Amino acid sequence: MKSIQELSQIIFPTRCFGCNSIGISICSQCRSEWHPHYYQTHVGGINVHSAVLYSPTSSKIILSAKENGIKGADALIISAIIHVLNQGNFSWHNIRLVPVPSSTNNRRRRGRDFIQSICKEVSQQTQIPLSSILTIVKKVEDQSGLTAKDRVSNMNGAFGVKSHSHPVGDLLLIDDVVTTGATVTEAVRALRAGGFHVIGSVTACVTQPLR
Ligand SMILES: [Zn+2]
Repeated sequence: MKSIQELSQIIFPTRCFGCNSIGISICSQCRSEWHPHYYQTHVGGINVHSAVLYSPTSSKIILSAKENGIKGADALIISAIIHVLNQGNFSWHNIRLVPVPSSTNNRRRRGRDFIQSICKEVSQQTQIPLSSILTIVKKVEDQSGLTAKDRVSNMNGAFGVKSHSHPVGDLLLIDDVVTTGATVTEAVRALRAGGFHVIGSVTACVTQPLR
């Protein structure tokens, strides 16, 4: 008799979370596309440090982590962020990781605050303290369907700093992907308005500039 695991492999075969081909959880082709590099862009008045260019494969890897909670995809994002933290010229003793918060709807649907849980892992592996001080104070639409201009007005005034947070250290904003920079810009605005010192942002992915 076949084991439960073997049976479930027949009914639900493992597919690559990058390209959906049947086999292992990530195929070598997709794994090589995710190979972390080091990109620096300047967005919202700060430097954004990223590891991987946004592509159909990297976007599927991010979605697999974000929407489906696939552990292997989480691990790729975590290691990409740690790679960038190692590449960037940061004074590690003073930095704090600030996750970009998820909306209540996304948190409910996914069963977790995605970036928060990625940051927790990064913090555990690097010993860099986590500083979850940002919160959403305005209803925001999903950015993916919006133009660059609409993203700015959508995000404008969206973030605030949690009460009882005190400015400590050099803050690094953490997000999965930087696209137009509307989110980064708003997060930097909210943190600086609260007197916090933001030195940059680290993201797993960076897109080519939107037109
Ligand atoms: Zn693949």
